[in-house]
Amino acid sequence: MVKSMGLIKTKGIVIAAANSADNDKVLTILTEDLGKISVFCRGAKKNKSALLNVAEYLSFSEFILFKSPNDKYSLNSAEVIQLFYNLRMDIEKLNYATVMTKIIYDTVQENQYSEEILQLLLNSLYVLSETDKDCDLVLSIFEIRMLALLGFTPRVNACVSCGAPMQESMEEFYFSIKDDGVKCEVCDRLDKGAIKLNKTSFMALIYILTSEPKKLFSFEIPEESINELKLLAQIYLSEKLEKEYKVIKY
Ligand SMILES: [Zn+2]
Repeated sequence: MVKSMGLIKTKGIVIAAANSADNDKVLTILTEDLGKISVFCRGAKKNKSALLNVAEYLSFSEFILFKSPNDKYSLNSAEVIQLFYNLRMDIEKLNYATVMTKIIYDTVQENQYSEEILQLLLNSLYVLSETDKDCDLVLSIFEIRMLALLGFTPRVNACVSCGAPMQESMEEFYFSIKDDGVKCEVCDRLDKGAIKLNKTSFMALIYILTSEPKKLFSFEIPEESINELKLLAQIYLSEKLEKEYKVIKY
């Protein structure tokens, strides 16, 4: 019984892995119930180590962690659930995954409620890895939904300035970055920074904000709308997080 003291079981995904002295590694793990934590991983780089796969970037595992009296985590054992092997083999897709994990690295803290964010990341990586869905669309969906989970949910049912409801008969919509939501045509004229969305892009935005997690990626839109959502997601994200996240292209 003394032996089990300080042992914690949690599921999580490695969002960063840094080499430490000798054969050791320090992993940053997004967990389902401990937020983002740093985990010391002794001997992880040894070829024969049982932790070799577990200690890789993007490994999703069930971890048994030891928590020391001064609140530091070290890895006791782990069982791999999903390695996202396809992503590691595809440098282009890997670059999209990297943007997602960087955003999480910068915005999630230890002990923060993170179950929904973990689910979002796993779903996004799964779609990137296992389907040929447009990578820009997958990333834009991730970014918009992630912002909503962080508390930045834009208002989309009515004009943020005058309260006029959005109508189904409307063909163009204007998203105000500075006022966190859509504006009617009249109020848009006073807002130089608003982004124009066509009806399909606007409907997709509403879907991304309201869909149940498992169906989040179950829609297709034309390239024009992908580009509009991509622009919105990038600008809104950099405005709210005060940092730019760009996919490395070769
Ligand atoms: Zn208005």
